[in-house]
Amino acid sequence: MHELGIVKDIFRTLEEAYPDKYEAIIKINLEAGLLSSLQPILIQNAFEAYVLDDTRFKNTELEVSILPIIAYCKSCDKQFEVKYHRFVCDCGEPSDRIIQGEELRISQVTFQEDK
Ligand SMILES: [Zn+2]
Repeated sequence: MHELGIVKDIFRTLEEAYPDKYEAIIKINLEAGLLSSLQPILIQNAFEAYVLDDTRFKNTELEVSILPIIAYCKSCDKQFEVKYHRFVCDCGEPSDRIIQGEELRISQVTFQEDK
C-alpha cells in the first residue's frame, strides 16, 4: 500500500529530526497538496495500521490538511489559486508554473511535555 510507505517515511523523518524526543510525539500535522493525489482518509487508515505495529505511537494523533493549488501567472506577475484543475489566471493566461499543490509536508509536530 502506497500510503503505508508514506507513513513509514514520515516516522523515519521524524526519528531523524528529533532523536531525543521521538517517542514523545503526541500529534503530527501534515499538509498535502491537492495535486499530490494523496487522500487524507487513506493516509489516516495507513497511520492507524502503522501504530498498531508500533505501539509507542498508539496515542499519537494525525491531522491531515489539504493545501489548495497555487500557480503563477507571468503576465500579471502574481500567484493565483487553481480551482477545478483550471490552470488559467483571471487575465485568461494559462500557466503551468505550480507554486504549491504537489507537496506533502509535516507542518507541525507536538510533543508530550513531561517525557
Ligand atoms: Zn494573469
